[in-house]
Amino acid sequence: MCCSVAGIISLVWSQKKQAVSDNYILTDAHSPCVSLNFLPITRETGCFLKPALTDRILPWIDLTGFATMRSGAIVLSVLTINLNYIVSGNKWAYTGEIGPENWGREYPHCDGTSQSPINIDTSAVTLLSTLGQLVFTNYDIVTDVNLRLENNGHSVQVDLSNEDLSISHGGLDGVYKAAQFHFHWGSADQRGSEHDINGELFPMEMHIVHYAERFGNASTAMSEDKGLAVLGFLFEVGEHNTHFDEIIQHFDEIRNQDDSTNITSFQLKSLMPDNLEVFYRYSGSLTTPPCYESVVWTIFKETLKVSEDQLNAFRTKIHHELLGGKVPVSDDYRPLQKLNERIVYTNAFSGIYSAGTLVQSSSYILIICALAAFIA
Ligand SMILES: [Zn+2]
Repeated sequence: MCCSVAGIISLVWSQKKQAVSDNYILTDAHSPCVSLNFLPITRETGCFLKPALTDRILPWIDLTGFATMRSGAIVLSVLTINLNYIVSGNKWAYTGEIGPENWGREYPHCDGTSQSPINIDTSAVTLLSTLGQLVFTNYDIVTDVNLRLENNGHSVQVDLSNEDLSISHGGLDGVYKAAQFHFHWGSADQRGSEHDINGELFPMEMHIVHYAERFGNASTAMSEDKGLAVLGFLFEVGEHNTHFDEIIQHFDEIRNQDDSTNITSFQLKSLMPDNLEVFYRYSGSLTTPPCYESVVWTIFKETLKVSEDQLNAFRTKIHHELLGGKVPVSDDYRPLQKLNERIVYTNAFSGIYSAGTLVQSSSYILIICALAAFIA
């Protein structure tokens, strides 16, 4: 009786231990933080960059307690040789001494065992058909309310808090309301996404962040168990995608960090792939500090397409500040985290594949079982 209903509906695949390298590929071009060549910027050394009193960028170097560094000549050489800075109000960046490998110093949750993003090995995911399908509410409406588009210094973000968008079902515990969506992208096509599929990197990833309605708001929910539900969409290079025009055409208005502008409301559904039926599900974290492990992640199998020109708009028009200068935001993605003991689920059989083909022996077993059941 290998072909029990339960066996067919919920086939549990053997879990492979994720072999994610601890050695991350960090980029130097357009990165938000290039580490000092010889001087670590840590609080321990007493030498670190801070936002100026204006609460804008213009960083200054605090040399208190670092007597040997009080020479103006040395300070000048530090400033000349290095391009270190931090984003206003933040103590983290994507490279350097305050980069992802050291986020745990200031944000202990970042050293947790259920962190995001991860590589999704589709030959090792667990089919859980009972997850079913997500239900999207009001994702197809257009309101009179303008949306707020913002350059927050590490991404482009659209505020949805005034909209009444929500998701439910699909294995979620209750209703989750949409709060915002934003993007992570690379300085080249070969990188940029946070999640990988079978080790494949994508040039961009969009996250639509939702909070559990029972917590009332996103800031409360973000530190609660299953407080957030984030939908992740991976991008590939393709034809020009007109659905993103309303966002990209306003990039000139948000060139600088903390710039924001109003954009016309549109159907959020229009930004999503046509096929939302196949997704991956796992428990993870925020991919930026404070890295709370509060996120129910949903990564869709179907990718979105945008043109090279559209990707270049992200790469070249969105800036943050560096020692008074402007630097394009790119490579704003966190390196892969270890899966550890977690299980990645898929809601549909077609979520299990490898290089486009079903290669798992378990697949053949399932097919044989189905045939046997048919014959019987
Ligand atoms: Zn994100």
